[in-house]
Amino acid sequence: SLGVRDVHLAFGANRVLRGAELDVARGATACVIGPSGSGKSTLLRTINRLIEPDSGDVLLDGRSVLRDDPDALRQRVGMVFQQFNLFPHMTVLRNITLALRKIRKLSEDEAMQVARTQLDLVGLAAKADSRPAHLSGGQQQRVAIARALALQPQVMLFDEATSALDPELVKGVLGVMADLSAGGMTMVVVTHEMGFAREVADTVAFMDHGVVLEAGEPAAIFESPEHPRLRRFLAQVL
Ligand code: ATP
Ligand code: MG
Repeated sequence: SLGVRDVHLAFGANRVLRGAELDVARGATACVIGPSGSGKSTLLRTINRLIEPDSGDVLLDGRSVLRDDPDALRQRVGMVFQQFNLFPHMTVLRNITLALRKIRKLSEDEAMQVARTQLDLVGLAAKADSRPAHLSGGQQQRVAIARALALQPQVMLFDEATSALDPELVKGVLGVMADLSAGGMTMVVVTHEMGFAREVADTVAFMDHGVVLEAGEPAAIFESPEHPRLRRFLAQVL
């Protein structure tokens, strides 16, 4: 399970997180929605410690991640970004084996085997020897997901993983994410895809001004939102 407890973070005078709280049961998927600038990306980044919070705690299976070694933590918590961040000069396969060799300390042969298996799972076995530039955005994002999964994380974080994609490519990536969710991965998904949130999430958390203002099952959030700010947000995006 994952727990964000009263996390505060300021960039100078800009108080971006103001007591954020989030609970994700093991194997559950939480979707985080909310207006631009509300602190969604910053919240995700505090979970795998790309940013250190000023105060509060992040618990993974009841243990504070703030005491973990950051490298060990990033193996346990995988992250996928809007921009895929693949290495352009390496083949797809090499993009995946690199981290396996460095972080999981696998041999070249073992790393290749794991990488090919992961590529197969995202439907890209045939692209192993291509360079990222020769793949569509959707394919590149699926490689980025495969790369993160190859490290066998306990938790996966997605920050608007489909926002940079052409509309016709969005479905394939959301499909991979939905499969991962159904397979029991613990996930936190920042998304503008309300259909995905409604169908796939166990919990939807609405962020506004650095706090999770309202969280609950998708039906409750979308059908009977309590907070006026959430109602206003949904009226704009649905
Ligand atoms: P969006 O939906 O547009 O992605 P968001 O909810 O993800 O928005 P954040 O990216 O978390 O919002 O940003 C929240 C606030 O923190 C913004 O005011 C932003 O300018 C500020 N911020 C984010 N990262 C930094 C940084 N590294 N340094 C300074 N300010 C930052
Ligand atoms: Mg963001």
